Amino acid sequence: MPTAKAYAASSPTSALSHLSIPRRAPTDRDVELDILYCGVCHSDLHQARNEWSAMPTVYPCVPGHEIVGRITQVGSAVKKHKVGDIVGVGCLVGSDQSCPQCAANLEQFCPHATFTYNSPDKHGTAPVTYGGYSSSIVVDEHFALTVPANLSLPGVAPLLCAGITTYSPMRRWGDLKGKKVGVVGLGGLGHMGVKFAHAFGAHTVVLSTSPKKKDAALALGADEVIISTDANEMQRHAFSFDFILDTVSADHDINAYLNLLKIDGTLTLVGAPDKPLPVSAFGLLFGRKRLAGSLIGGIAETQEMLNFCGTHNITSDVEIIPIQKINEAYDRLLKSDVKYRFSIDMASLKSE
Ligand code: NAP
Ligand code: ZN
Repeated sequence: MPTAKAYAASSPTSALSHLSIPRRAPTDRDVELDILYCGVCHSDLHQARNEWSAMPTVYPCVPGHEIVGRITQVGSAVKKHKVGDIVGVGCLVGSDQSCPQCAANLEQFCPHATFTYNSPDKHGTAPVTYGGYSSSIVVDEHFALTVPANLSLPGVAPLLCAGITTYSPMRRWGDLKGKKVGVVGLGGLGHMGVKFAHAFGAHTVVLSTSPKKKDAALALGADEVIISTDANEMQRHAFSFDFILDTVSADHDINAYLNLLKIDGTLTLVGAPDKPLPVSAFGLLFGRKRLAGSLIGGIAETQEMLNFCGTHNITSDVEIIPIQKINEAYDRLLKSDVKYRFSIDMASLKSE
C-alpha cells in the first residue's frame, strides 16, 4: 500500500504530530495529487479536539479540507484532468452519485457522502478518511476542481471550504445588489463573506467582537463595521438588514443578530458551535424573520465559485505557515489572531 507523510492528532488533547498514513493506489476513476497548500479551517480544530458531539472523532485524525495540489497520476477512465493539472479538493471526496441530492448537484447532502476526513473510508484503506495535512491524496476525479490559472495558490486553498461556504448561501438568497448584508465574525469564513458580498454589490457590514479589526474590515471591502459588543451601536441598526451570514465558531447570542433583520429578512448560520443556540420565538415572529443554515456547497457550485474568483481576482488573505507550526496556529485561531486564514506550505512536510 502506498503511504504519505501527514500530521495527525492522536487524542482530543494531544498536539498534532507527524504520522505515516496509507493512501490507496488510484483506481480507474481516481486522480492522485501532491498537495502544495492546505488551509486551516476552524472545523479542523473542532474535529481534532472532538468538539462536535454529532460527529465524534476517530483517532488518529488527519484534518485538512482546503487542498490545492498538482496531479501526479490519473486512472485509465479519468476524463476531467490530466497529470500536471493544478486542482482543488474541498470537504467532499465521495458521494453515491445516484440519489436525488447528487442529481441536484447537492452532493454535500447525499446520505452516502464521504467527507475529506473523519468519514468511514469506503475504499477500506483506513478506518476513516485522512485529510489534507499530508503530502498526497487520492480522490475520485469528480471531486477534484479546476483552479483558475491566474490565482495565487496559497490563497486559493481556503476557497475550497471558507470560499464555497460563504458563496453558496449568498447565491441562494438571491440578488444581493444594493441589499444590506451583514457578516458576523471576521475570521476565515467571515473575510471571504465580506469579499463576496462586496463583489455581489451589497452594502456590506461586518459585525465583529474585535474593535482592532475595524480598519482591516474596511480594507477587505466592508462599507461599515459594527462592534457587536456595543449595545447602542447594535440598536442603531435594528430592523435594517436584508441578510446576515453568521460565521461564529463559539457559543453566542443569535437573538442579538435576529433583532437586526428587517421584515422577511434571513439569518443563515454557517458557524458550527456544538452547543445548541437558544432562539427567542418573539424575535422571529415580530418581523416574519427566517433563520436558516447552510453546509459548504455542491461540486458544480464550488467550480462556479472558483471561476467567479478567477474572473474577479478573489483569493483568501493568508498567512503561510510550515506544518510544524500547526499547533501554534490552532492556539492563535482560538484567539482570533489570524488575518484571515493560515495556509500550510506542504513542502514543509518533506523534512519530517
Ligand atoms: P475562525 O477563523 O476562527 O473565525 C470565527 C470568527 O468568529 C472569529 O474570527 C471571531 O470574529 C468570531 N468569534 C469567535 N468566537 C466568538 C464568540 N465567542 N462570540 C462572537 N464571535 C466570536 O473560524 P472559521 O474557520 O471561519 O469557521 C467558523 C465556523 O464555521 C466554525 O464553527 C467552523 O466549524 C464552521 N464552518 C462551517 C462550515 C459549513 O459548511 N457550514 C464550513 C466551514 C466552517 P470577530 O473577532 O470578528 O468577532
Ligand atoms: Zn472548513
